Amino acid sequence: MALEITPLGSGSRGNSTLLKSGSTMVLIDCGFSLKQLELRLSRINVNPLEIDGIFITHHHLDHAKSARRASEKWDAILHCSPETAIRMGWAPISECRTFGNVERIQISDEMSLLPIPIPHDDSDNVAVIATNGDGHRAAIVTDLGEATHELKRHLSGCSHISIEANYDDERLMTGPYPHSLKRRISGRGGHLSNLQTAEILQDIMNPKLQSIVLCHLSEKNNAPHLAESEVLMHIGEDYSGTISISTQDGPEFTIRVGELKNKDVRIRL
Ligand SMILES: [Zn+2]
Ligand SMILES: [Zn+2]
Repeated sequence: MALEITPLGSGSRGNSTLLKSGSTMVLIDCGFSLKQLELRLSRINVNPLEIDGIFITHHHLDHAKSARRASEKWDAILHCSPETAIRMGWAPISECRTFGNVERIQISDEMSLLPIPIPHDDSDNVAVIATNGDGHRAAIVTDLGEATHELKRHLSGCSHISIEANYDDERLMTGPYPHSLKRRISGRGGHLSNLQTAEILQDIMNPKLQSIVLCHLSEKNNAPHLAESEVLMHIGEDYSGTISISTQDGPEFTIRVGELKNKDVRIRL
């Protein structure tokens, strides 16, 4: 059984990724308007009423914007941490189901999700490791100032990793942002630079890893070629899989993990 990952778009103006295994479908984050989400899902022929669950990583609106409305309209269970529920004003039980840190959420026999806490500005943010019925794993990791040991331990067992590469150091430091904002972005609670992402991938590299998607690129402080070349410089010799960039205007491709003798396949849409 393949585990399919389709980024619907990623960046400071909205994030959402569709995960599919067999007939089970889950959206990780709902950072676009409901109308945009439905439009993007229609481009890949997905009927939103068939989505089983919505998983929200943290309360920032580029991740959580339309989650409650989508959950209600599509009759999909909304999963989030207790802190995110409070920050969004979602009522536990009636409007959302809350999870604890590193508590596995069984969506169906075909998919489970494991939230891993990560440090990010004034929020209770988590990375997600999705496992399908055959044990194939995919990670979605955005909005973190640095990677913890625990996160790296989980990433080292994944066949697919979507991870943010938010800014290029030089562009951020010489760019237009005020000094305080530059400090916040590059601090422990901010975002990962291209270099940090490259070093994390280098650290956790293993033969299982077959596809990488770089996401949440800053439009002001980064460019796809800068992110990709930094990562390639660090992992090029040890890695034979694919590297793709998820931009703000998805969906552009689907990654399939666990097909064709466990090789991943990248399908252009
Ligand atoms: Zn955030
Ligand atoms: Zn974000």
